[in-house]
Amino acid sequence: RAYNFNAGPAALPLEVLQQAQEEFIDYAGAGMSIMEMSHRSSVFEGVNDGAQSLLRELYGIPSHYKILFLQGGASTQFAMIPMNLLTAGKTAAFVHTGSWADKAIKEAKLFGDTAIAATSEADRFNRIPQLSEIRVPDNAAYLHITSNETIEGTQYAAYPATGDVTLIGDLSSDILSRPVDVSQFGMIYAGAQKNLGPSGVTIVIVREDLVESSPKTLPTMLRYDTHVKNNSLYNTPPSFSVYLVGLMLKWVQAKGGVAAMEQLNRDKTKLIYDAIDQSGGFYRGFADLGSRSLMNITFRLGTEELEKQFVKESEQQGFVGLKGHRSVGGLRASTYNAVPLESCKALAEFMADFRKRNE
Ligand code: PLP
Repeated sequence: RAYNFNAGPAALPLEVLQQAQEEFIDYAGAGMSIMEMSHRSSVFEGVNDGAQSLLRELYGIPSHYKILFLQGGASTQFAMIPMNLLTAGKTAAFVHTGSWADKAIKEAKLFGDTAIAATSEADRFNRIPQLSEIRVPDNAAYLHITSNETIEGTQYAAYPATGDVTLIGDLSSDILSRPVDVSQFGMIYAGAQKNLGPSGVTIVIVREDLVESSPKTLPTMLRYDTHVKNNSLYNTPPSFSVYLVGLMLKWVQAKGGVAAMEQLNRDKTKLIYDAIDQSGGFYRGFADLGSRSLMNITFRLGTEELEKQFVKESEQQGFVGLKGHRSVGGLRASTYNAVPLESCKALAEFMADFRKRNE
């Protein structure tokens, strides 16, 4: 298998793919694939409920939070959140940390007032603002943060305490990569396709009181209360994706749970950050040390020429996805939960070898 460092959709564990392969044509003796099955069948309901309850258990989600499996990606949540939760006279506050926060802000502006509670724009978003920099307006309906900026490679080390103001987190690129106190948040959401499974399903974890009733003027599919009332089965769900999320969760459980995932992610990323830090300036990390991500490692070389050569040679040696996003440039290695330690070891070795040959 390739050394897959794609930013998303991203690597899935081989064991998960193999189990899906085994069950692909005949799921649990039903004589059909899970994707051929009615979403109203008891078998699929078991898959849907099983994935929810395992996520609840692994992530420590309190009972007064709902878990929803929606479609439209995290990008649809950028709009659904203000549509449902930004009430008249209130402001949607954001910590502006980079590319994905920017998209969330732009969508919220379509629906009401927004405020920037803190930003690291002056530093080209190479860091997460200090918690002490965050100023939440009095009339904030909520404060939205992007837990991990996938493109810049920055991540919150700790989340802001917002008191009475609801904290909403886009955890698309770091959900389940480390333990989180879910009760700090009113809502957490994430596209599944990095840490939780394939694309096609978006996970929303939301405190019940926030979604009891959505504004009556909203379209049915864009109201949280529709999906809460119907256990995410209002319309045909992305059943195969939900099933694969369930398999991914079982894999996380078998690996020892979310705390074990964090340790593994720390071990993996240390290999690559060490290769950067011990290169005598040959590789330069993009993110500030205190904001470094455990999921997306962004770094640069002395010239764009050398960066191109790095990408080319890495591809020849079986590495995939190391070219940085065009807005930041340079290189990016995405080391989500399913990326094995061996891939990171191989990358650190390749980096050392490339440096020797080009310094
Ligand atoms: N938020 C973050 C932090 C992301 O990394 C991404 C995708 O890469 C998104 C949101 C958008 O997710 P989707 O493609 O599921 O709409």
